[in-house]
Amino acid sequence: MNTWEKEESKPSISFIEQFIAEDLKEGRNSGKVITRFPPEPNGYLHIGHAKAICLDFGMAQKYGGKCNLRFDDTNPVKEEVEYIDSIKEDIHWLGFDWEEREFYASDYFGKLYEFAIDLIKRNLAYVDDQPADLISTQKGTPSQPGTDSPYRKRPADESLDLFERMNRGEFGEGSRVLRAKIDMASPNMHMRDPIIYRIITTPHHRTGSTWMVYPMYDFAHGQSDYFEGITHSLCTLEFEVHRPLYDWFIDQLKTGDYGPRQIEFNRLNLTYTMMSKRKLLELVQEGKVSGWDDPRIPTLCGLRRRGYTPESIKRFIDLIGYTKVEAINDVSLLEHAIREDLNLKAPRVFGVLNPLKVTITNYPEGKVEDMEVINNPEDGTMGKRAVPFSREVFIEQLDFMENPPGKFFRLAPGMEVRLKGAYIIKCEGFRKNDITGAIEEVYCTYDPETRSGGEGSGKKVRGTLHWVSAAQAVDAEVRLYDRLFDHEDPSGQKDEDYRKFLNPDSLKILKGCKVEPSLANARPLDRFQFLRLGYFCVDPDSSSTKLVFNRTVQLKDTWAKVNK
Ligand code: ATP
Ligand code: MG
Repeated sequence: MNTWEKEESKPSISFIEQFIAEDLKEGRNSGKVITRFPPEPNGYLHIGHAKAICLDFGMAQKYGGKCNLRFDDTNPVKEEVEYIDSIKEDIHWLGFDWEEREFYASDYFGKLYEFAIDLIKRNLAYVDDQPADLISTQKGTPSQPGTDSPYRKRPADESLDLFERMNRGEFGEGSRVLRAKIDMASPNMHMRDPIIYRIITTPHHRTGSTWMVYPMYDFAHGQSDYFEGITHSLCTLEFEVHRPLYDWFIDQLKTGDYGPRQIEFNRLNLTYTMMSKRKLLELVQEGKVSGWDDPRIPTLCGLRRRGYTPESIKRFIDLIGYTKVEAINDVSLLEHAIREDLNLKAPRVFGVLNPLKVTITNYPEGKVEDMEVINNPEDGTMGKRAVPFSREVFIEQLDFMENPPGKFFRLAPGMEVRLKGAYIIKCEGFRKNDITGAIEEVYCTYDPETRSGGEGSGKKVRGTLHWVSAAQAVDAEVRLYDRLFDHEDPSGQKDEDYRKFLNPDSLKILKGCKVEPSLANARPLDRFQFLRLGYFCVDPDSSSTKLVFNRTVQLKDTWAKVNK
């Protein structure tokens, strides 16, 4: 191993960890690490959220701290209880637990309201009667200062009275807002008297109609961190420009040394998909996918249904790391991570996707032999199982060719192959459909001396095929998934709607597939390697009378080759 390889294999600690370690060394915030994961309950979690979750919970675990779950439920218009339940389920599935610390930004509506009143009294906030679009044009541009609102000098008493009346429901939505009074000439646009409260009349899922005014994200987030004693508020890079405002609010609020520190890292983006909750919701609502758990979208429930393990997702997140640079991560790295994990965990089984009947003419009719095959060559503790063998078996249509090219080491007239775990067979003939010309049956003979594990099993043939005994085979439906989009960055194309890049062949449903009888009792979300084909997972649509499998991933990355 050269030095470069050594460097690469060393687990590097992220810049975030360096900051945390520094803070601890300097004894900041009494040497504690308290983090939080703050989802807005307006959609299901996706793998990007998993990146944040692994960091928030991971740093707390590593430094003997705690991580709170806090729902950022400041917008009653878009939020739903369904999302709260799914978010909790997905975090648990990843293997993290917030114990009793399940909080809601709405828990703090009272305190936030008091704080707003306090800012008004201190002349640091005012009610603005202008509509939002006018306020926004007065904000100026990054190179030009903004213009003061005509209400900026409004006496505190007047603002106080108006704000209270806003909350009593005396004014309509959009008619007035509360703004912080900071600096209309600040080079940071977020500091130019940001809106901190707006009127919303839709009832809130937790507080009902108690409030008519709702805090903006920026006004709720940092303060919630402060109320909870958060020490490190880890978020994505787009919040970097909000940090001065985050600090400004906390400076107005804090009474001692304690204060949370916001640190930003790069978002997770994946090729051939998109992470925006809004757009994922559109796909769901427009029926472009079957639901939030469609195995083609990067939601955690979608990935789970597809057959991904929490370990593979965490491994992938470890591999990509945390940086300060936005990038798109290659989805094939995620696929690599699941292959690596399932290679160790998934039992091997026989499944034939496109069956072709093979009759072994010299094998006795009615005879059935149990062939002993190992469940996982990577893990001896997974043991062995018996697979029935008989005169009629199914092989893959693609494993037979009437006129094979040079290096075809599968079945063809006159050629020999091994049926995995059973015998060597030789093709003696075949039958075609008179009308379509399709091959309907292949006739073979077998050599009884070549039984796997037996004395004659040393005989060499070039190819080994998977197979399923016809009489005992169980029927299954198999869903083959491909990329949902055929563009690497479907939602990043200027002037082009992401829908234009939907891959019409992202789902292919195969019926009449044949799997070995041991799979008859497989349960939803059980995972297997179908020999030579890939990893598959039992879909929750399965029942005792109908088996349905999802292909998680193929054994090798064929996409890269095809699209070169
Ligand atoms: P929205 O577009 O609705 O704001 P969001 O994806 O930012 O969506 P939140 O519920 O606000 O959703 O996210 C919760 C946390 O997850 C935030 O701290 C956010 O920074 C983090 N997060 C969201 N998306 C990603 C991503 N792609 N990569 C890493 N972290 C993410
Ligand atoms: Mg957000």
